[in-house]
Amino acid sequence: LKKNILRFAPSPTGYLHLGNVRTAIFNFLQAKKNNGEFILRLDDTDRERSTQHYIDQIKYDLEWLGICWDRVEQQSKRLDRYKDILNSMIKDENVYECFETTIDLDLKRKKQLNSGQPPVYDRQSLKLSDRDKAELRKKVSSYFRFYLSGNKVSWKDKIAGDVEVQTNAVSDPILIKANGQFLYTIASVIDDIDFKVSEVVRGVDHLTNTAVQIEIFKTLVEYSPEFAHHSLIVNSSGENFSKRANSLSIKELRENGVEPGAVCSVLVNLGNGKRMEVKNDLLAFAEDFDLKAFNTSPTKFNTEDLYSISRVALSKLDNV
Ligand code: GLU
Repeated sequence: LKKNILRFAPSPTGYLHLGNVRTAIFNFLQAKKNNGEFILRLDDTDRERSTQHYIDQIKYDLEWLGICWDRVEQQSKRLDRYKDILNSMIKDENVYECFETTIDLDLKRKKQLNSGQPPVYDRQSLKLSDRDKAELRKKVSSYFRFYLSGNKVSWKDKIAGDVEVQTNAVSDPILIKANGQFLYTIASVIDDIDFKVSEVVRGVDHLTNTAVQIEIFKTLVEYSPEFAHHSLIVNSSGENFSKRANSLSIKELRENGVEPGAVCSVLVNLGNGKRMEVKNDLLAFAEDFDLKAFNTSPTKFNTEDLYSISRVALSKLDNV
């Protein structure tokens, strides 16, 4: 991949908050630092939870922060493409048809947990004969899973360093649900391939996903993009900010008088060990932005700080 292409991929199922905006900023700066391209990708395959209101609001928030995208892509408009790829994966036997209902799967999980086993999908559906399957198809809608190798997946992470994930401890991921909904796991890989994404920056909560997705990349193309997994921000009692309930939305922060320059300055500098500099222009951080300065351990942050930093940001605006 020659060009630097990065993307921010929110699901339009809620407002942006400090947790996902940090991811947006990292991807944006990493793209702009190298004169690359920044894509806003809307992960809206969940038609029930995704709304136009949240799409509009996400765009508004990003613009307010100074995060501008070179183009927008929307997963719900690419379903035919996903279908084609899924069909080729079924043909190549990288993907298999399953028939359990959500209730069946829940029960299995509980049984496994009760007997002290890891709740990994037992691949029962793989044992079905063609006749069994034909019978089952008459009764239930099937769903499809990707067949994981069970091998160790390793990669050189631009923040986390050398990462290894053993995929035999992971359930074969569901790619399409019985109701026909494509899941993020496959849609994201197909998009990253089609849009020639060269680097993916996201939270450490995605490490296992990455291992799974690297296996999918390898079955579809010869390469996978580079990955960087940043820490998650936590409040003073150690609770994760990316959980919406624990974090104020960007919308609320704005309404409370927080300056965009304060949000950006804080999120760019949080966890990199450097003295914070307040700048009102997000792009001014691009040149010195360095993923290597960050790490994966939880990064503490107190939302109250945004108010004092807003005053600094404002005073700098006054001086211009
Ligand atoms: N929609 C996914 C999320 O919000 C995107 C993750 C990714 O960057 O691949 O978690």
